[in-house]
Amino acid sequence: IKKLAVLTSGGDSPGMNAAIRSVVRTCAYMDVEVMAIYRGYQGMIEGDFVLFNARSVNNIINKGGTILKSARCQEFRTPEGRKKAHEQLTRAGIDGFVVIGGDGSFRGASIFHKEFGTPVIGIPGTIDNDIFGTQYTLGFDTALNTVVEAIDKIRDTASSHSRLFFVEVMGRDVGHIALNAGVAAGAEEILIPEENLGLDRLLDSLKRSKKSGKSSSIVVVAEGDKTGKNVFELKEYVEKNLPVYDVRVSVLGHIQRGGVPTAFDRVLASRMGVRAVEGILEGKTNLMVGIMDNQIVFTPIDEAIKGHTKIDRELIRVSDIMTI
Ligand code: ATP
Repeated sequence: IKKLAVLTSGGDSPGMNAAIRSVVRTCAYMDVEVMAIYRGYQGMIEGDFVLFNARSVNNIINKGGTILKSARCQEFRTPEGRKKAHEQLTRAGIDGFVVIGGDGSFRGASIFHKEFGTPVIGIPGTIDNDIFGTQYTLGFDTALNTVVEAIDKIRDTASSHSRLFFVEVMGRDVGHIALNAGVAAGAEEILIPEENLGLDRLLDSLKRSKKSGKSSSIVVVAEGDKTGKNVFELKEYVEKNLPVYDVRVSVLGHIQRGGVPTAFDRVLASRMGVRAVEGILEGKTNLMVGIMDNQIVFTPIDEAIKGHTKIDRELIRVSDIMTI
């Protein structure tokens, strides 16, 4: 392998730049040429490539988002689109690539690998932490810290005015952000997609805390929480059934995706980037790098996209105990 490429695809996440930097610098270290592909698979199809060197990635380790831009690309889902992409890679002399993205990006990479045999390694970059084969995805820790900081600020208002706040956080299918942020920010209740704790329990818990002298409360709600009610419907429900509370809603939205990556995400990105390039040079392919028990490990991409991450039961228990 003489020349590798790196791209970011799907939703952006903090730490992607640190991973790009790591891949590029590792290639330079190993004397392998490296091309940056802009705008994900769209850029691959269009040949939007730039030859990088170690200096091309100066001063990006601390930046959120991705300097290579990301894209969602319909054309890559078609055999014709992927054929064009393959032609572009061949023309540019690219022997393999590292894709930083979520499970959709990995699905595309795997299909491409099967069609053309191109060596490919994935680095999991998504704030949701929902990829099988790694305990942490790039961006999760940063997003978590952003959410906790936001809830801390909301708490100031909640306690000054004796209010109940429903705070909606990202997580359509998984509750990792909600559960961890809820525990870290001391939420009263945490509603997640994996488990329906029931609305009665929510009311009981709020009644109990009111009785015990708590004047304000924060309930963290994942977007896809299993009660099926969104934060506004939850507000109405509580106002109707427990009128003692002055209820407010805060939807955190896209602030959760951006921002300066935490030290944890930068270190993780640096480690994953090095292993991704080493792996591909060792002849490994169609694998994803992940972190398990603080070791960088490889998982077949096909397992990573099929597998499911589990919610941490211990954390649910801890949060239960904390709301006494
Ligand atoms: P996030 O988890 O942040 O949404 P993602 O990588 O899962 O990130 P997707 O939009 O699902 O984001 O996928 C990114 C791109 O990967 C798509 O726009 C498409 O180009 C490609 N892709 C996804 N699924 C497939 C597929 N089944 N076949 C070919 N390409 C795919």
